Amino acid sequence: MSLQQPEIEAEYFSLSEREIFIRIAERKKELAGRLLILCHHYQQENMFRFADLVGDSLKLAREAAAIHGPEFIVFCGVHFMAESADILARSHQKVMLPHLHAGCPMADMATVGAVSMAYRDLVQAGIVQNEEALVPVTYVNSSAAIKAFVGERGGSVCTSSNAERVLEWALAKGEKVFFFPDEHLGRNSALALGIPADQICVWRRGELLGGNSVEQLRRARILLWDGYCEVHMRFLPDHVRRWRLHVPDIKIMVHPECASEVVQVADHYGSTEAIIAAVNKSPAGSKWAIGTEMNLVSRLQRQHPDKEIHLLAASPCLCTTMDCNQPVSLLWLLDNLAAGRVVNQIKVAPDVAVQARKSLEQMLSI
Ligand code: SF4
Repeated sequence: MSLQQPEIEAEYFSLSEREIFIRIAERKKELAGRLLILCHHYQQENMFRFADLVGDSLKLAREAAAIHGPEFIVFCGVHFMAESADILARSHQKVMLPHLHAGCPMADMATVGAVSMAYRDLVQAGIVQNEEALVPVTYVNSSAAIKAFVGERGGSVCTSSNAERVLEWALAKGEKVFFFPDEHLGRNSALALGIPADQICVWRRGELLGGNSVEQLRRARILLWDGYCEVHMRFLPDHVRRWRLHVPDIKIMVHPECASEVVQVADHYGSTEAIIAAVNKSPAGSKWAIGTEMNLVSRLQRQHPDKEIHLLAASPCLCTTMDCNQPVSLLWLLDNLAAGRVVNQIKVAPDVAVQARKSLEQMLSI
């Protein structure tokens, strides 16, 4: 979701990077005790250096919720992450994004209107006995409205580290699972559970019955929304083959948002936290080609000069929307806070937050 970013005054853009860094540090001191800056692993280094906490989206939202003091939570990430932080935050806490254009295109591929219609069509087509038998599961990379839709129907959120466990739970609860928005995380997790490919169906937006016959839908146990992450879709099986040809002892690790053709030929796959952990615990001299966002891969290269770490693809794989958050917008936001003005606040409507929290709590209980 791309919101309207208020205009940042021209004078900010005449500042040098050094001046911006100095002023951000000053504002952080002024707001000490009232401010918490969270930074996602995919954020570039010039933002990362100001983080109080770093992590993946859910880890950050949960850690922020456990710290009750700060009134201002600045989330250097994308819109759905700030929404999750707001859902889990205390009532006195305000969550903000440095730049409102920092959205997630994949999360935007599943709107609550389109998902509700698909859900209704599936039930009306008689592919399940009743609505409860079709269990919705949403990846945490989704809007608060989608999380609320899932919470209302007794479904669950999942992350890239627990998607298999959540799918197992959902399959035990109902006849079929409807998984959104990421087709690839859904397929990779279902295949890892041993579900045959012919029991996995893709629901293509805009097509009658998602482009499937009633028979195909009846046979399927997992229905996948056709969303994708354009960053992770850039990694190809050919990249894996090339690295193996040139560096035979290289280890390939990819994120489960990559296509299953890539995941199947990699040595390992896992969430951002799992990728970081695997590199951290590998011995000096290890060789890695990693299929995830390039800011994280570059950081791992800097942190591990004793290891050979490469981006799996030859061309840059940048989350361009997260990159809308720049030091200049962080400074502008902090200047406003210091002057008593809250800007770029992300606020989830209370009724949506109640239902969305149910789907997040369901995941935590699995
Ligand atoms: S890397 Fe992909 S899934 Fe993650 S925030 Fe960017 S667009 Fe969304």
